[in-house]
Amino acid sequence: MASERQLSRRSLLGRTAAVAAGAGALTATAAGTASAATRDVDVAIVGAGLAGLTAARDLVAAGRTVAVLEARDRVGGRVVNLPLAGGGVTEGGGEFIGPTQTRIKALADSLGVDTFATYNTGKNLLYKDGKKTPYATDGLLGSVPPVDVAGLANAAIVQASLDDMAKQVPVDAPWTAAKAQEWDRQTFETWLRANAVVPSAKFLMDVACTSIFSAEPRELSLLFVLFYIAAAGDESTPGTLERLTETANGAQELRFVGGSQLVPVKLAATLGDRVVLNAPVRTITRSGGGYTVTADGVTVTARRVVVAVPPPLAARIVYDPLLPAARDQLTQRLPMASVGKAIAIYDTPFWRADGLNGQVVSDTGVVSSTFDNSPPDASYGALMGFIEADKARELDAASEAEVRAAVLKDYVTYFGEKAASPTSFVLQRWNNERYTRGGPVSIAAPGVLTQYGPALRAPVGGLHWAGTETSVHWMGFMDGAVRSGERVAKEVLAAL
Ligand SMILES: Cc1cc2nc3c(=O)[nH]c(=O)nc-3n(C[C@H](O)[C@H](O)[C@H](O)COP(=O)(O)OP(=O)(O)OC[C@H]3O[C@@H](n4cnc5c(N)ncnc54)[C@H](O)[C@@H]3O)c2cc1C
Repeated sequence: MASERQLSRRSLLGRTAAVAAGAGALTATAAGTASAATRDVDVAIVGAGLAGLTAARDLVAAGRTVAVLEARDRVGGRVVNLPLAGGGVTEGGGEFIGPTQTRIKALADSLGVDTFATYNTGKNLLYKDGKKTPYATDGLLGSVPPVDVAGLANAAIVQASLDDMAKQVPVDAPWTAAKAQEWDRQTFETWLRANAVVPSAKFLMDVACTSIFSAEPRELSLLFVLFYIAAAGDESTPGTLERLTETANGAQELRFVGGSQLVPVKLAATLGDRVVLNAPVRTITRSGGGYTVTADGVTVTARRVVVAVPPPLAARIVYDPLLPAARDQLTQRLPMASVGKAIAIYDTPFWRADGLNGQVVSDTGVVSSTFDNSPPDASYGALMGFIEADKARELDAASEAEVRAAVLKDYVTYFGEKAASPTSFVLQRWNNERYTRGGPVSIAAPGVLTQYGPALRAPVGGLHWAGTETSVHWMGFMDGAVRSGERVAKEVLAAL
């Protein structure tokens, strides 16, 4: 894993130039650090992920002054390009976009970052009960793995039920759904045990759950799952479970040329030295009519503050005066899920010659879901695997060599001996990242949304909340992050 500490310290502009030159070094440090020890602006923004940067863009466009304080020595947060030994980059965090994710697409378009189709030619692979079954995805079942007929029939009913129930969940206030209490007092596991009664159907739903949330069904409130499904659409298109899980016509349909971090990097470049890196915010204090935001190396006074970090990270900032109990208790109850990404690089995407598209669903191993992460010109092969939920936690304390060995064992099982010898291997373990501590998203157990949900977006005085977790569409995704930045900018502009 690329350690933040090992990365070079260069100016944001220098970094941007390097990126433009194709160097792919997306990790430099701030334009304004020690020389800008104090700033006075209209709006201080905590966090230079897609949410914070989008908010900054819109506020600046409206003529407001901003300072974006970012803890890391790079922008992008949960979106990061990792450099490869042989040149090029691979993505360690958010990477795919798909239909109805219109705001991230519009942002990328505006910055000149192109998309290409995720490699999806050939057969998917189901590995179950020690048996490999390649299967086509252009049939009636789409990418649903071909388990036994009874399991498929049961899974189809379960999926339809979830979609129907999700339609009854208002995305802007899931806690107001007619059955909110009933759905929020049970875990997804409890509901699945009652409804996915055929073992292979339960397997399919378990795999879908860990792939979507990087969490086990027992960790999630049914209401939260239904909200997440409902949010997988836009203003005119209701969300569906299928849109969350599919590659073609789903959330994994497209990737960004040059890697997804190009989007926040280019966006940050338009903001220049308004973005301050290496500036973890420690305290936010109300003072006079505004706020004093104290970060390492820089203090910002502002009329309004946007906190654009995941809820559990927002809880690590000290607020004076205290936040209302409901807001603090909400952030105590929205932990990050558990996820890592392992990318093995090969001279060629050799699995393509075997008729495989690189997408695996497995009932075993540390990696039970993979993608072909090769670049658009396939100049090398990249197999990306997710390490999720219980499996991620089991490996949190393992050495990189141990994780690599376990991952490559899985890749050999799925793709044969050639997978044993990658030219390089990249690991990103989000649970161990100081300024994220898990991923891809905060999750809610039973009782959280109905008791604390209203505190998710409600401003507290001049403090406003952004980040993908606050989005009503595509919560948990890059699109949700962008939407939250756009929403919070409007909210702040109306209040200023
Ligand atoms: C492994 C993984 C895979 C994913 N796959 C996809 C995908 O394929 N498609 C998709 O759309 N989404 C995906 N996501 C989710 C997506 O990356 C996120 O939803 C999105 O990037 C969140 O953006 P954000 O701005 O809300 O938060 P973040 O990106 O988390 O930004 C918050 C920023 O705040 C900073 N910060 C934290 N604390 C402080 C502090 N005290 N002071 C200052 N700064 C602070 C952080 O360093 C970070 O830069 C994935 C995420 C992960 C981890």
